Amino acid sequence: MAFQDNIRDIFKKELNGIRDDGIFKAERIICAPQSSEIEVEFPAGSGKKNVINMCANNYLGLSSHPDVIKAAHQGLDHRGYGMSSVRFICGTQDIHKELEGKLTKFLGTEDTILFPSCMDANAGVFEAILSDEDIMIADRLVHASIVDGMRLCKAQRDTYKHSNMVHLEEKLKLHQKARLKVIITDGSFSMDGDLAKLDKIVELAEKYGAMVFLDDSHASGFIGKTGRGTQEYCDVVGKIDIITTTLGKALGGASGGCVSGRKEIVELCRQKARPYLFSNTIPPVVVSGAIKVLDIISKTTERRDKLEKNTIFWRKSLTEAGFIIKDGETPIVPVMLFNAKLSQDIAKDLYDDGIYAVGFFFPVVPKGQARIRTQLSAAHDIFHLEKALDAFVKAGKKYDILGKSKKEIIERYGD
Ligand SMILES: *Cc1c(COP(=O)(O)O)cnc(C)c1O
Repeated sequence: MAFQDNIRDIFKKELNGIRDDGIFKAERIICAPQSSEIEVEFPAGSGKKNVINMCANNYLGLSSHPDVIKAAHQGLDHRGYGMSSVRFICGTQDIHKELEGKLTKFLGTEDTILFPSCMDANAGVFEAILSDEDIMIADRLVHASIVDGMRLCKAQRDTYKHSNMVHLEEKLKLHQKARLKVIITDGSFSMDGDLAKLDKIVELAEKYGAMVFLDDSHASGFIGKTGRGTQEYCDVVGKIDIITTTLGKALGGASGGCVSGRKEIVELCRQKARPYLFSNTIPPVVVSGAIKVLDIISKTTERRDKLEKNTIFWRKSLTEAGFIIKDGETPIVPVMLFNAKLSQDIAKDLYDDGIYAVGFFFPVVPKGQARIRTQLSAAHDIFHLEKALDAFVKAGKKYDILGKSKKEIIERYGD
């Protein structure tokens, strides 16, 4: 037998370690399309339950929009199911070029290249454009896929304290001699829901002759007055050299990502980025759906406006009820509980009351910063949020944390 018991035991031991640490992740099985209300079976075998979804990246409620589904069907009918090829061999259809063009227009950049995912875009872009004479300077809280992309690249690496512009400037001075300098940041940071100070970052980039890399996965489609993302919110459209983003969140939520920005950089990605060269093209059905998504959000801001209203309502309601939330303006609203077990207990109570939200604790967030992260969607109506609020308030009373300070909660539950 190839997989001998002593080999299996090594893996079992590691898995048990993960369980013992209390960080074992179990999948929740959804038996419905993605929406504000979903049927979930969790734990497995416990029967289906209808719950309000407060943890999807379905910010614009487009994941199951009838027009998007219809466009996807048409893509399937007219361009087939699979391409069985990477882009540069025989995996580029007219609709791939059309989608790249629409993304370029929407993001206000020079050119765009699609990737199978934003993880792949981040994994490929740095290696394709930088050499060991260059320096990458990243915010310390950038997404894991950026960290991986930086690891795959031979350029030198450094970091600056989260959103700390003084520290960033020190690092830019320190690395002034490098051939190319790239400042690397997320637009909207997924755990705290705060936005990068992109206007300041662009200013520093101009002062020190650096480039700016922005991953706007948690912002594209809804941050900024017309949903162009953090760059629009900070009024620096056209000044970001490299933008990566995903089609897997607000923009329909299926899959796919892109690198968008300076045309020479995009062209180099077409020549050299490994996930583009060596992984299959995005299927026509997804491309067609994504084109429809861009048409919808380019025509009207109705959905991002509704999301903004929901966000304001939800942030205000939680605060007035006496919860501590992370301040901000994004539809990522972390309800701070500080203690890991408390976050899990409350998430469970919420679920029993038909509200699906997930508790995060170390190592996903720093020690002592456990929380339940809620995410709003344009698919939510006020009655969904009122019901969710009732469940939160009920749990808040049960654990006696309403109106309590961080110090009081930690004194009682520990951190
Ligand atoms: C979700 C996310 C990704 C990954 O996107 P995929 O298209 O799902 O691979 C990359 N970067 C950030 C900042 C994200 O939030």
